[in-house]
Amino acid sequence: MRYISTRGQAPALSFEEVVLTGMASDGGLYVPEDVPPLSHDDLAAMAGLSYAEIAFRVMKPYVNGEIDDATFRGIVEEAYATFSHDAVVPLNQLDANHFLLELFHGPTLAFKDVALQLLGRILDHFLQKRGERAVIMGATSGDTGSAAIEGCRHCDNLDIFILHPYQRVSEVQRRQMTTVLADNVFNVAIEGNFDDAQAMVKASFADQGFLDGTRLVAVNSINWARIMAQIVYYVASAVALGAPHRQVSFCVPSANFGNVFAGYMAKRMGLPVKQFIIATNANDILHRTLADNDFSKQALVATLAPSMDIVVSSNFERLLFEAYERDGSAVKALLERFQSEPSALAEAPLARLRESFASHSVSDATILEVIREAHHRTQEILDPHTATGYRAAERARADATTPVITLATAHPAKFAEAVVKAGFPGVPLPPHMDDLLEREERYTVLPAELSAVQQFVAENRR
Ligand SMILES: *Cc1c(COP(=O)(O)O)cnc(C)c1O
Repeated sequence: MRYISTRGQAPALSFEEVVLTGMASDGGLYVPEDVPPLSHDDLAAMAGLSYAEIAFRVMKPYVNGEIDDATFRGIVEEAYATFSHDAVVPLNQLDANHFLLELFHGPTLAFKDVALQLLGRILDHFLQKRGERAVIMGATSGDTGSAAIEGCRHCDNLDIFILHPYQRVSEVQRRQMTTVLADNVFNVAIEGNFDDAQAMVKASFADQGFLDGTRLVAVNSINWARIMAQIVYYVASAVALGAPHRQVSFCVPSANFGNVFAGYMAKRMGLPVKQFIIATNANDILHRTLADNDFSKQALVATLAPSMDIVVSSNFERLLFEAYERDGSAVKALLERFQSEPSALAEAPLARLRESFASHSVSDATILEVIREAHHRTQEILDPHTATGYRAAERARADATTPVITLATAHPAKFAEAVVKAGFPGVPLPPHMDDLLEREERYTVLPAELSAVQQFVAENRR
């Protein structure tokens, strides 16, 4: 198994190289050259297996023997032992055939833990083997930084620096990052906004001279290993509901498209999926593209589901590559045009997408209405991201008889503001986090100056 770029011009890489690399040198994203099949018998044999065992079987062909089986099994088991539910990602039945897949039982209460608990350990393994160390840098407006930190805190060969905008992150989200006191974790509060922080991270990746040759690694959702880890829960949940003997549909609250692209990969491997429903908030580029072929950027809107606030969906490029039948130059031309002007997909690729995907966009007012309505009907309190999915599943499902699984991407306690706005008294943090507000914090405040940040990273990496 090798990995190739969606823009067709970068060299093909091994699994190890692709995990350490991030974006391809031609500006594209890496995808597997072949799709490893999951046969009817493979799926049937997964009935009743543990999540970790299913994970090992689904991911093994992508790892391609580059980590020996016993070691990889150990990595997978360790990663998912950090989840507080024995099922790792339990299914919760809401009514006759609408299910929630609870992806929020990891250390930071959101689905990104599923991928980042694994990615940190895989990176650490490869670095150890190579006798190298690496630095991770990332910017966060609150949510993803903590999942990256939790994924790397035990990794001896990694130092992680997460930049957040000083005093512009909610207290719970800040503390989820700053109360991790491990020696290799550095929280930097930038005297500026999120865009300032992100610009400094981008500039650091573009010119890594300040690190004297130490590798800088990206753990954002363009890293292939994150997609790979997410394929697993589509397979595990469909098998739990009767695959390969029964079809299911999935509804996915979406932003950068990493999550739902993993579902698409599961389908390509052989999972019987009837339909993927893409839920968006008011930042609806995915919905506009699918419904109206309006592939254009629009101004960012701050919504009640902030982890879905995006202008461009970075991983959509991976799906376009398939829709354009792996024509890297067509993808490159489309995406270059899209940077500067409103665009549209060609007819045949759009038709291909519409065979598998439907979409629905949900406003803030509707998010609040859905939180109340879902509670009334099911006694569940949904987080605002999951609420977009709940509504989209009901509005866009192809039929009422195929079970639909809505991905619950965050725990409601993590986004209590929306829950309170919907009229509820708030949601307590789960037991393992109930002393979060008393824990010791550690972070460094720096001016929004690239040289100050780079000097801090260079001096503090171990
Ligand atoms: C990141 C995130 C999403 C969006 O996932 P993508 O893979 O970017 O589409 C949705 N909900 C929550 C809670 C998230 O943290």
